[in-house]
Amino acid sequence: MGGTFNPIHYGHLVAAEVARDAFELERVIFVPAGQPPHKKPVIADAQHRYLMAFLATAANPWFELSRMEMDRPGPSYTSETLAHFHAQEPEALWYFITGADAVMEMPTWHAAADIFRHAEVIAASRPGYAVRIEHVTAALPAATGRVHQLEVPALAISSSAIRQRVARGWSVRYLVPDAVMQYIRKNRLYGSGP
Ligand code: NAP
Repeated sequence: MGGTFNPIHYGHLVAAEVARDAFELERVIFVPAGQPPHKKPVIADAQHRYLMAFLATAANPWFELSRMEMDRPGPSYTSETLAHFHAQEPEALWYFITGADAVMEMPTWHAAADIFRHAEVIAASRPGYAVRIEHVTAALPAATGRVHQLEVPALAISSSAIRQRVARGWSVRYLVPDAVMQYIRKNRLYGSGP
């Protein structure tokens, strides 16, 4: 489960749980991006994003959390992350779960074809969002038959909306786990006041 998780929210958690059922996953490993390749460094510090992901996932026995991308210097390329996991358990069937918008951009990613040598991809989307998988496969033939759409109503929640709400002093209760809400407040993230 890859994402910037800035911050992690219930949409991500529900998506992971729904994917676990739908694809009969043994476990879901959350991998916060250390240095997202496509973003300027305006995002919350990787350590904050990691700790919020820890608070959000710790109670679920099927969820794990990896520091792998955070601890690897340089941009967090998904192809390298999946090569690492695949090498650990080459006989396992690996899936890379992330947001559908991100999946649509995959043809532009570093060594994108390698991703599909190591894993299939689950594009989590809110209902009604048309994931144009054929656009991805037209530009990236290695993706053919290896991208799955998963509709998740809870993905109406978004990290950007949470950041905006925090900056305005509005509540994010019921959008993020309580511990994450308190962590944001305590560390004054996203423009939250004292
Ligand atoms: P993003 O562009 O910030 O997000 C695109 C959309 O997907 C947003 O609506 C986002 O919602 C949603 N999303 C992101 N992660 C999700 C998840 N795990 N479950 C459900 N929805 C999710 O994408 P990003 O978060 O920075 O990156 C997504 C993943 O792609 C990361 O693992 C990143 O490292 C990888 N990536 C790799 C490359 C590369 O290898 N070159 C390039 C770009 C991205 P929220 O904002 O609410 O999360």
